[in-house]
Amino acid sequence: MIFTVLTLFPKFFESPLNESIIKKATDNKILRFNIVNIRDFAHDTHKTCDDTPYGGGPGMVMKIEPLYNAMNHVESNLGRPYYILMTPQGRVFSQHTASRLAKKPHLCLICGRYEGIDERIIDLVDEEISIGDYILSGGEVSALVLIDSISRLVPGVLGNKESHVKESLEESLLEYPQYTRPEVFMGMEVPSVLLSGNHEEIRRWRRRESIRKTIIRRPDLMERFQPNKEDEVLIREIMEGLSE
Ligand code: SAH
Repeated sequence: MIFTVLTLFPKFFESPLNESIIKKATDNKILRFNIVNIRDFAHDTHKTCDDTPYGGGPGMVMKIEPLYNAMNHVESNLGRPYYILMTPQGRVFSQHTASRLAKKPHLCLICGRYEGIDERIIDLVDEEISIGDYILSGGEVSALVLIDSISRLVPGVLGNKESHVKESLEESLLEYPQYTRPEVFMGMEVPSVLLSGNHEEIRRWRRRESIRKTIIRRPDLMERFQPNKEDEVLIREIMEGLSE
């Protein structure tokens, strides 16, 4: 899978893309990163990428032509990618969106700076994504959030094929609690069922805790959850426990 990033600050990506899982997947040629400096596509002598807003007001606005030129350059080398504009005005990113985007062969993430990009960019992109209801100073951090969460869903990126299947939010549920050694820490014990060796009981306990945590912490997620027969029994047990 190819990630192209259009940015005014390409160095921003050097360290994060050269660590751990993403670096390994790049070395193994499962992922490929193409970090493009928008400034290289501003053709005036000062390589201007921003200008004052029409109608007045504070700050600067990113110009459309350098971006358009950069997009053409990407397309002539690698074909048309799926374009995503990073913007606080976009649809809020979720695990569901990450799974959908992980199936695209080539994503191009466009990072704004200053007061944002000339609004006409919207006609050139496929989708606008926000990573949450707060304002960042640039799209780079949000692009890294997408890269991190999408790439770990690309087959072969995580070592263990199973390891993201049961993760939080994959099924609109939070993940069950996890423990490792020691068995007792400052008087706090690991739930005994996990030491029992009874795989069926462990599986059922995990499922119940996963649903219980979601009901307590994120009731909003439960609206999308589709319980099976066993889950319905577990939910009844949980509700009885909560009302005691
Ligand atoms: N004035 C703009 C915000 C500009 S912030 C507005 O009110 O809509 C500068 C850049 O940071 C944006 O162009 C965008 O690329 C990025 N950015 C800021 N907050 C973001 C968020 N929550 N999600 C994704 N990108 C964001």
